[in-house]
Amino acid sequence: MQLFTITSNLKSFVVSEKKFLHKIAFIPTMGALHAGHLSLIDIGKKYSNVTVCSIYVNPSQFNNADDLIKYPKSFEKDARLLESVGCNVLFAPKDEEVYPKDLNTQVNLDLMGMDQVMEGQFRPGHFKGMLQVVKRLLDLVNPDYLIMGQKDFQQFTLVKHMILQLDLPVKLIIAPTLRESDGLAMSSRNTRLNAEERVKAAFIYQCLIELKNNINNTTITKLEANAMDSLEKAGLKPEYVEIVDGNTLQRIDDLHKHDYIVVCLAAWCGELRLIDNFILKGTLS
Ligand code: AMP
Repeated sequence: MQLFTITSNLKSFVVSEKKFLHKIAFIPTMGALHAGHLSLIDIGKKYSNVTVCSIYVNPSQFNNADDLIKYPKSFEKDARLLESVGCNVLFAPKDEEVYPKDLNTQVNLDLMGMDQVMEGQFRPGHFKGMLQVVKRLLDLVNPDYLIMGQKDFQQFTLVKHMILQLDLPVKLIIAPTLRESDGLAMSSRNTRLNAEERVKAAFIYQCLIELKNNINNTTITKLEANAMDSLEKAGLKPEYVEIVDGNTLQRIDDLHKHDYIVVCLAAWCGELRLIDNFILKGTLS
């Protein structure tokens, strides 16, 4: 595996690969890698000749400075894991390479309210910062494929919107959420849960299954409220459970009027905020 920290070196590498008509798959991450991230590399390998994984903890998407400081870092271990799954390139740029002083990297787009709902309500500015870094990294890496996880449903839906609106020459591939054996969605943050919290956290998955099983038995509002109650009873502190249209991310009131429906939730487990989602109707896209 090759390591690039200087963007001009990465750019030259990509240009030379493209001369051989090699396809590039790009997997952006913030490090602290787990099997979920590695499954994205595997998917990337199916589409491409060269997989490029970036590790960059993007300051512009953190609305909470403490969260940024506490974000887990394990660069050496991450590099070993990437090597073990045959990732070709690790791109680890410095802040000044991603955001040079004189460069305007802002993304100005009509996000049609998709950045204001769910995560957006609790993390102001998060999605603008996320789109800013994804756009910048796409400019630097110039991949054919961008691989992102369903785990961050709202995130990839906004990236899909940006790719369409800006007509970016990249194909977005969505990877299903990889889960622990008890159903908890794998996340870099899970390592910060103590044993008792870890047991509670698995209830999120149970709650999503229960909601899906009851989808035809009651109203949307009741499904959401019941899920909030169950999460609270399990000792979690839910922030939201929303049943939304998978394309617009807006809440729905009638299952029959939509072809693509997703339930998204966020809940605190001790000091940690966890998110998850399930497709209720339609196919992940
Ligand atoms: P992060 O480093 O948390 O920003 O995540 C990098 C990428 O990995 C994002 O596209 C995430 O959606 C994806 N990802 C995170 N957790 C999982 C998981 N459990 N299964 C599949 N993909 C994941």
